[in-house]
Amino acid sequence: MLIVMKADATDSQVEAVVRIIQSLGYKPHSMRGATRTAIGITGNQGPVDPSHFENLPGVAEAIRVSKPYKLITLDLRPEKTVVRVGDAAIGGEELAIIAGPCAVESRSQAFAVAEAVRRSGARFFRGGAFKPRTSPYAFQGLGEEGLKILAEIREAYGLKIVTEALDEAGVDLVERYGDVIQIGARNMQNFSLLRRAGKSPLPVLLKRGLSATLDEWLLAAEYVMSEGNYQIILCERGIRTFAQHTRNTLDLAAIPAARRISHLPVIVDPSHGTGKNYFVTPLARAGVAVGADGLIIEVHDQPDQALSDGAQALNLPQYQQLVSEVRAIHEVITPASVA
Ligand code: PEP
Ligand code: MN
Repeated sequence: MLIVMKADATDSQVEAVVRIIQSLGYKPHSMRGATRTAIGITGNQGPVDPSHFENLPGVAEAIRVSKPYKLITLDLRPEKTVVRVGDAAIGGEELAIIAGPCAVESRSQAFAVAEAVRRSGARFFRGGAFKPRTSPYAFQGLGEEGLKILAEIREAYGLKIVTEALDEAGVDLVERYGDVIQIGARNMQNFSLLRRAGKSPLPVLLKRGLSATLDEWLLAAEYVMSEGNYQIILCERGIRTFAQHTRNTLDLAAIPAARRISHLPVIVDPSHGTGKNYFVTPLARAGVAVGADGLIIEVHDQPDQALSDGAQALNLPQYQQLVSEVRAIHEVITPASVA
């Protein structure tokens, strides 16, 4: 059930609806939009009786939701969500660029890359302290020590820190040192992790799972939102197909497809999406051209020495070149053309 308030509904009328939802034992999710407020209802097992709401002052409509998602949908919030991270944003007018190494390997490596990321004008720094590696013998990340290096980078350069949490204890740590919780492709359906991130005050960057359909991906976002965290960024990072020329197949159609259903910002990861350095810039250009709100790019000061994902890392000059190219493309993508 979705309660749409009239455009001139007052705050106390919205409050009254919220209280009735709570008194029925359900959870209200109030979304204030540019033209009207809508209130999503979750926590109900069966259908909610619209007659509880229809005649309340300020209520325009009580709509039954037949789709599997209730909160990520444009029905609840027709305008795009802008995820704000301090004075930076994802989903606003500016193209968001999140860049940095796959993993924080050392203080000097992370600082060398961060300096270049700052110089490019990007607002977000990425770097894994906890790495989900296919092999248990591969470099697993520096753990909390890596997070401390990231916190120093935030301090030194004013960059916002995007870093992965592999489990619920990892969310506690990312909350202490970071700005955005990354949930990796392999964890997209780790429901206890999604619920924990849904209780966090930090925004969540939710990667698409390796074999996830659009609906599964959006429902993963719904898990986070149903706990009350509405600050989510969707990230297309490629899916597993029969193609062997790339590490994954970057599904760029997923960007307009997600946008058609959801108000959440969508970004593209051409690094994991292709797995090879020479594909990253062309697919980054394409991602911006299809209307992505941002990019997440792996960059390394010495890609051939990288402890993880070196093959897909851009070196510093390549990264700088990419940023100027995608900014130029973003300039000509008007909001109307990606509506
Ligand atoms: C990463 O960003 O380094 C990462 C592990 O990504 P994904 O979860 O998309 O594989
Ligand atoms: Mn990586």
